[in-house]
Amino acid sequence: MTYFCPVCGYPDLDEPPYLENEIPSYNICPCCGVEFGFADGGRQGEALQYWILKTRNTWIRQGMCWRSSSESPPANWDPSSQLENLRQDKGPVAGPGRYEYHRLENEGQEP
Ligand SMILES: [Zn+2]
Repeated sequence: MTYFCPVCGYPDLDEPPYLENEIPSYNICPCCGVEFGFADGGRQGEALQYWILKTRNTWIRQGMCWRSSSESPPANWDPSSQLENLRQDKGPVAGPGRYEYHRLENEGQEP
């Protein structure tokens, strides 16, 4: 079983990013480089959702680069279509992995 990264939509994480009750896995997404539970500062609920969206926007703005130096991107890797993974409620895990994809047009204040 594989899992989606809620930040970048990478579909091949071998552990869920967050377990039930938003307990982080401390897994690292090789695509966007986020370590769940560390990079997010332990945020939960709305604050975590906001952080995920903001981090996704930053990753998009910085050119959607592959971050892992030890793991190579998949053949024919396409970060734009990968983001489409987040449009549907495909995440097998409850919590922040299931957020609908949308860009944060106005980042506003962190909740
Ligand atoms: Zn990611």
